[in-house]
Amino acid sequence: MAGESGVVVLGSTGSVGSNALDVIGRLPERLRLVGLAACSSWQRLAEQVKRFSPAAVSLYDSSLVEKLSEALNGARAQILSGQQGLLELATHPECQTVVAASSGTATLPAVLAAIEAGKTIALANKELLVMAGSIAMPLAKARQATIIPVDSEHSAIFQAARSGKGSEIEKVFITASGGPFRDSSAEQMAEASVEEALAHPTWSMGPKVSIDSATMMNKALEIIEAHWLFDLPAEMIEVVIHPESIIHSMVEFRDGSVVAQMSPPDMRSPIQYALTFPERLVGCTPRLSVGHLASMSFYRPDVERFGAIELGYRVVRTGGSSGAVLNAANEALVEAFLQRRIRLTDIPVLAKTVLDRHELISEPDLADILAAADWAVNEVRKCIA
Ligand code: MG
Repeated sequence: MAGESGVVVLGSTGSVGSNALDVIGRLPERLRLVGLAACSSWQRLAEQVKRFSPAAVSLYDSSLVEKLSEALNGARAQILSGQQGLLELATHPECQTVVAASSGTATLPAVLAAIEAGKTIALANKELLVMAGSIAMPLAKARQATIIPVDSEHSAIFQAARSGKGSEIEKVFITASGGPFRDSSAEQMAEASVEEALAHPTWSMGPKVSIDSATMMNKALEIIEAHWLFDLPAEMIEVVIHPESIIHSMVEFRDGSVVAQMSPPDMRSPIQYALTFPERLVGCTPRLSVGHLASMSFYRPDVERFGAIELGYRVVRTGGSSGAVLNAANEALVEAFLQRRIRLTDIPVLAKTVLDRHELISEPDLADILAAADWAVNEVRKCIA
């Protein structure tokens, strides 16, 4: 057994971050919280610091640091802020594993620095691979940093893939719940309200991920992630709708054998696996019953109604800066939908328009990637205006 391992959680006040703290709190002999970082939720962050007493804490929005510091009166945590705070936490000498739980691009440089420092990354942040997979994966290989996916589908592929060698994998099936509009008509989807789009049937998640699930852009991003994580071309990745979210994904080997990973949906399951890998410790999540098994159904996605899926394959084929463009365009479009400025069904259509207009940079560095993302956000503004 590896002994106590130091963990830093970037994005600790969000949905994945809170679940990660729950897992860490249950395994005190095994996991020790070294650092916490949030964007702006200083009150929640202060509560977490009092509960876990980490060595350091970082608030991205430096204008709120004073409030955090007052709320922490007496707590001994070192208080950091901004981009520098994230970098210090991610490369903290007492940290072995960085949980990349924030969404967005603010933590990209910090997570890349953690990879550079050879840390293990428990990866929930999609942007790292969708936008910068071409930088992150070769760097991880060179620095022998392990990236363990926390996203339930990729955790499932990671676990199932261990039944054989990488070269023996023929294909992966990424499962998708299909979101709240799985069985709706195209007309119903076009009229969908923000509230309807936020009501996810099986997973409880933040607003951005919920909308991504409603458009299935989530699956497009996951296709791109799977491509980078497991070195798979587009043809080896198939999406299957599985509304009950019991099977989290499957790996087919060249002998025709298919290995699936299943469990009732609970994010703490893939989070704990990533934090204790390669061991499996006693878990706290609900157990599989025959009732779950009897309920399972599967079908092909309607690629007409969910045009986002094709955009994921397109980015895998195109590579370069296209992932950054799709991701940033989608982010801006989701925001516009939440502000009730566009329809849900405009999201994949306008994301495609922005991709069509983009002049590809085939081997981008991080600055090119961030510039392409800014460009995409601007293009979205033009499209909406
Ligand atoms: Mg997922």
